[in-house]
Amino acid sequence: LPNLPCAPLTADSARSLVDSIDAFLFDCDGVIWKGDKLIEGVPETMEMLRKMGKKLVFVTNNSRKSRRQYSKKFRSLGLEVTEEEIFTSSFAAAMFLKLNNFPPEKKVYVVGEDGILEELKLAGFECFGGPEDGKKTIALEADFYFEHDKSVGAVIVGLDQYFNYYKMQYARTCISENPNCLFIATNRDPTGHMTSAQEWPGAGTMVAAVSCSVQKEPIVVGKPSGFLMDFLLKSFNLETSRMCMVGDRLDTDILFGQNTGCKTLLVLTGCTTLSELQDASNNIHPNVYTNSLYDLVGLLQK
Ligand code: PLP
Ligand code: CA
Repeated sequence: LPNLPCAPLTADSARSLVDSIDAFLFDCDGVIWKGDKLIEGVPETMEMLRKMGKKLVFVTNNSRKSRRQYSKKFRSLGLEVTEEEIFTSSFAAAMFLKLNNFPPEKKVYVVGEDGILEELKLAGFECFGGPEDGKKTIALEADFYFEHDKSVGAVIVGLDQYFNYYKMQYARTCISENPNCLFIATNRDPTGHMTSAQEWPGAGTMVAAVSCSVQKEPIVVGKPSGFLMDFLLKSFNLETSRMCMVGDRLDTDILFGQNTGCKTLLVLTGCTTLSELQDASNNIHPNVYTNSLYDLVGLLQK
């Protein structure tokens, strides 16, 4: 592959990329779909790569769904992808607790949606918060003291469309009144495709709010953290040097690929424009870039 930063994918570099790797890791939003709309040529590209014997794995920072819910979304778009091939930041949060021997008698407070709660329950952890706390309000009277469950040992913050002041205070009191309470962020994306039509504030905005109130930085388990790679490598017999991360965001996907030793391909179907990629202030350079995933099909037929 070319060493020059910002090299466009060509017939030659596409061939050498495909020959040099065993697995493609795909970011989802901006590569496979935009919100709920499939991106053109994705089924054809996936079919071609599978026929070539490549392993396909999907790594998303979206914490709103569990792996099971994601596999349903793939199927609804006509793509056959199993739960085992999907790595979400909601799953990453649950696996982080498991790997760190989080005590089962402790509870997890969730600022986030069902995906996080489902992954935590599947991993055997007791959790609360989430959508249920979405309607809670606080009467800010002069002598009101906010109580929280002292058995909370971790707070997980992900995208939460029901984010509110109650949840912020719950998370803040758990973390600031117990120095051992873990503060975990699923991801820090500034925006996300909550709808296909436009971008919306991402989990990073909610993480920033909680982080500001406790004056602490969270442990980030989604991209660009390499945390998920260990699980991926345990699940499949792969080497990172023979993997290619394909994504649309430089500071999550491409950085994740670089942090874990993968080759990187940026596609321009998502949030990064060619001028942002080529801007002098950008210091995250994928190995190659191309307009869309579908280009692989055309270039490999040349
Ligand atoms: N988080 C949320 C809430 C989103 O809606 C999205 C994209 O839609 C993302 C994160 C980014 O997901 P991905 O890593 O698949 O691009
Ligand atoms: Ca993306």
